[in-house]
Amino acid sequence: MTECRVTIYNEFVHEQRNPEVGKLYPKGIHGAIGEYLVAQGFLVRTATLEMEEHGLTRDVLDATDVLIWWGHVAHHKVDDAVVDRIQSRILNGMGLIVLHSGHLSKIFRRMMGTSCGLCWREAAERERLWVVNPNHEITQGLGRYIELPNAEMYGEQFDVPEPDELLFISWFEGGEVFRSGAVWHRGRGRIFYFRPGHETYPIFYNQDILRVIANGVRWAKFRGNTETCGIEVCPNITEPLEAIEDKGVAFAEIEHPQ
Ligand code: ZN
Repeated sequence: MTECRVTIYNEFVHEQRNPEVGKLYPKGIHGAIGEYLVAQGFLVRTATLEMEEHGLTRDVLDATDVLIWWGHVAHHKVDDAVVDRIQSRILNGMGLIVLHSGHLSKIFRRMMGTSCGLCWREAAERERLWVVNPNHEITQGLGRYIELPNAEMYGEQFDVPEPDELLFISWFEGGEVFRSGAVWHRGRGRIFYFRPGHETYPIFYNQDILRVIANGVRWAKFRGNTETCGIEVCPNITEPLEAIEDKGVAFAEIEHPQ
């Protein structure tokens, strides 16, 4: 496997405030996901809200192929300048994986351009995530579905743009359904939203869930062409490839923003 550098951002608030969550994730949600990804051969770095620039400095982002995001109660504390920087890196090819309550993070809403709202219920109900795209790189190694005995319910309408590809649809014991795994392309960047991961359940120890996250990292790593123009720039192509016939039309002197 070629080297893949992953940065896991976790706001890391519940684990320190709520003893139940702290017991479940003694090294934090980022620690649980990180241990699995290290064992899979990824180069892993972690970042938390309280770190300088939330651990997401320009140097860190420049050395990140895929950023994983988990947040819940502290979305509003994430600095807008850091969000701008992450958006720019995504447009230039960094992958983004957004987990669970990260649906309301500033960066996910920025990249989607919609409210990313949904409905929810906390009743430890059974969830079955049906694989609706078994040929996708992200769903490899799974059966027809993943079953979680206890989960927080997320229900439709999930206010996101129509996904480029839909991978999972969840069914919940209480009757709701939800598009729980979907991908989008933005600029050169690949974005994967994956729903499971409520902090009071041991979901980030589930081998199927971890496998999907690892598959997601492999999928989201950029493998496109950086020589193309048009990402965050609008170059003026004054020299055409072919000679253009002089039409005798005068052009106004217009300043074009760069
Ligand atoms: Zn939750």
